[in-house]
This record gives sequence, structure tokens and C-alpha cells, in this order.
Amino acid sequence: MKISIIGTGYVGLTSGTCFAEVGHEVTCVDNNPEKVATLLAGKVPIYEPGLEELVKSNVAAGRLKFTTSTEEGVKNSDVIFIAVPTPPQPDGSVDLSFIEKVAREIAQCLTPELGYRVIVDKSTVPVKTGDKVEQTVRRYAPPGVEFGVVSNPEFLREGCAVDDLLHPDRVVIGSNDDRALAYMQKIYEPFVAPVLVTDINSAELIKHAANSFLALKISYINAVANICEASGADVEKVAEGIGMDKRIGRAFLNAGLGYGGSCFPKDIKAFIHISETLGQPFGLLKEVESINAHQLERFLNKIREKLWVFREKKIALWGLAFKQNTDDVRESVAIKLCQKMLKEGAVVAATDPEALGTAQKFGELTGDITYHEDMYATLDGADALVIGTEWPAFAKADLAEIKKRLRTPLVFDGRNLIDPKDAKAAGLEYHSIGR
Ligand code: NAD
Repeated sequence: MKISIIGTGYVGLTSGTCFAEVGHEVTCVDNNPEKVATLLAGKVPIYEPGLEELVKSNVAAGRLKFTTSTEEGVKNSDVIFIAVPTPPQPDGSVDLSFIEKVAREIAQCLTPELGYRVIVDKSTVPVKTGDKVEQTVRRYAPPGVEFGVVSNPEFLREGCAVDDLLHPDRVVIGSNDDRALAYMQKIYEPFVAPVLVTDINSAELIKHAANSFLALKISYINAVANICEASGADVEKVAEGIGMDKRIGRAFLNAGLGYGGSCFPKDIKAFIHISETLGQPFGLLKEVESINAHQLERFLNKIREKLWVFREKKIALWGLAFKQNTDDVRESVAIKLCQKMLKEGAVVAATDPEALGTAQKFGELTGDITYHEDMYATLDGADALVIGTEWPAFAKADLAEIKKRLRTPLVFDGRNLIDPKDAKAAGLEYHSIGR
């Protein structure tokens, strides 16, 4: 099928590429000319494992194109996906101005001669946004234009987005228009995945409810971790024991510094706001947020307790990305940790396998900080090693080398990557979460 995707970011580029990979003809549109120029020059502007190869092969096969022109995308496709940002506003509600603008832009490109078009919202939006998109397109399009509106929320995880898109757990398609649903079923035919068809409101709600539940699991295990610490239990064992119950599952029960990233913090805030707007306040999610915020403060206190003050202390910081296998630093807890230590006068030597560039560009890290490709180089003369992101390379680190290079052998592991017994055997004073 012929598809266009408006918004070529983490979601738009990866999903557009995967649609091309299964045989569809895809036009990715972005209004950032720099991004489009980069893609047209054969480079991929984000780090996502496996993506670059797929972009290259699908461009070469003529199935994947890039443009800044929404009109070109709309004219050359039966189905138009919207994958633009939906950032939070100060009150927690979602800023839908990007979606509204794209809806207007699409409307202005539609003509009755083009024939039926399907407009699909892939961005994460509050329930009932589909109605607004439909009204807006109807208002700005010329009379006689035929279109259907669909909600098709995206569940990919950054760091394994290609695999998640090619082999999704499920595909959710919501629409009140049977003709639009038939187009969507065709798009997803090449994917081996269960497809759940719903009304449009339910599809929109599924995304916010799913992300909020995952955040809830994270805050739950973090609260349990704090009880483990206070009682001498080991949260890793507790998580294993809880997770072996099929009704619960082990995923997302990793105690640590809490959730961050471009989705969870804003989506939980949005769901709280939506629930309040609908007169059904979701107080449980406020507690999820509060546990999450507290988790970082607790960790900082742990470091303060040992170092006494941060001023003039050299800290080796391993990790800047919001999670492993990505260069994304949006709302990264590791970045927040870094900002707080810098603010208190620490001298930070930071490393990250992929996010050094994005951290320098977007991390708002001001103070005495240096960036290092070599993770071991951060350790020389440092008063402590602090781990902020769960990169596999950190989990496999040479503990003897850490001990050798640190000035004082203090390690604060915010992601429980190292076995405490191994750390002790290497002569490290090791602190982690909930054990
Ligand atoms: P992003 O910021 O990486 O990409 C958005 C892109 O849209 C940018 O390249 C921007 O230049 C472009 N854009 C903005 N306005 C435009 C316009 N009028 N015309 C053309 N292009 C325009 O954002 P993202 O991470 O891809 O997220 C997009 C949406 O998907 C959000 O609603 C997000 O919540 C949701 N989502 C994100 C993820 C994730 O892991 N990143 C996962 C699931 C859902």
C-alpha cells in the first residue's frame, strides 16, 4: 500500500522504515529541513539498533522516500499517519497543537479528485482526539473530500524499536469507519501479530492506560525495594519471586532510579489530567509519580551520606541516555542525576556508549563536566563511580580496573547492574537499590 508518515522522528522514521521493509511504499515527511537533508544524504539522525541498515536497503529498493512536503506525502498515499510530538504542558495536559496543525495541513492538501484517504493518528493523544482531528479536517478541507480517521497507537520501545515494530505483541486499530479499518487491516497483513480492532476512543485510551500500568509496575518495585533495604531483604530475589507468577510477570520489575524518557513521565501526567477532566480522578497515578520523583532523591542522599558533600568531588558518571541502546536523553533520570550533582559543585566525568552527542546538545548540563568515549577513562582519580543507565557494557565492566582507577573505591549503582558479591570481592564499597 502507499503510506505517508507526517513526522519523521523516533516513531515516524522507525515505523515508516518497517512498513517499507514489509513491502509498502512509504513517504516520510518532516518539516525539519535539516533532518530530511540528513536522511536524503543517506544518514540516519538517531541511534536505534538495526535501523540504519533497514533505511539504506529500503531507500535503495525505492520503497522509502523522504520529503519536507506534506502535500507530496498526502497526494502519493492512501493512508496518512501522524507521528508528531505531543509534549506536556505545565498543567500536565497534552499540547495538541502539533496534531492540530498537521490535521489542517493534511486537509488543505485533500481534494475530492484524490479519492478516499485514511488519516491515522500514531502519536500518543488523549481520548477523544480523533473526534477533533475529524472535525478539523472536515472544516479545512474542500467540500466533497472523503476520508476516515483511525487511532493506531504505537507501543515500540526505543532501543529495540525495529524488532518491536516488525514483531509487535499486538496491533491496536481503532476507528468508527469500516472502510478505514479495512485499509488498516491490509497495512498490517504482512505482520505476524494479533490485531485488536476497537472504537476510536478505546484505542486512544489503551495507550495511556498501558504506559501508566508499566510506570505503576516500576514505582511498585521501587517502593518494595525501599522496604527491602530497610529490612535487609534483596529486591532482586523478591522481584524474581513475584515475577514467576504468570499473572504478574517479571518484566518492568527492575528496581532502580525510576522511569524517565520522552513517554512515561508525560503520558502518566496526561492520563492524570484526562481522568480529572472526565471527573474520575486517578489518585493512584499521583502516587506512582511521587514514588518515582522520590527515588532519585533517595539515591542522591545515599551518595551524599558517603561523600558528605559533592563540592570538589570528582564523580565518574556511567550513563546519560534514559535507557540502554538509545541515544535519547529526553527526561533521562541519568541526566537529572548529573544536573543535580553538578549543581552541588561536583566535577563530573561522564560516559555513554551512544548519548554523548545528544547529552551535550540537549542535556542542559552546565558546570564542571567532561565527556569521555572510554568508560574507564572517567574513573581516573574519581571519588566515586555512579551508574545511571542500564547499558550492558556497564554490567560487564572489569571490576578490578574500576578499583584500580578510582581514588576511593566507592560505587553507587542506580540500576543494580553489578552483583554485590563480585563488587565486594573486587574490594569495592558498593551501594545499589533495595539490596
Ligand atoms: P520526535 O520528536 O522524535 O519526532 C517528531 C517529528 O515530528 C520531529 O522530527 C518533528 O520535526 C516532526 N514534526 C513536527 N511537526 C511537524 C509537522 N507539522 N510536519 C511534519 N513534521 C513535523 O517524537 P517521537 O518520539 O517520534 O514521538 C512522536 C509521538 O509518538 C509522540 O506522541 C510520542 O508520545 C509517541 N510515541 C513515542 C514513542 C517513543 O518511544 N519515542 C513510543 C510510542 C509513542
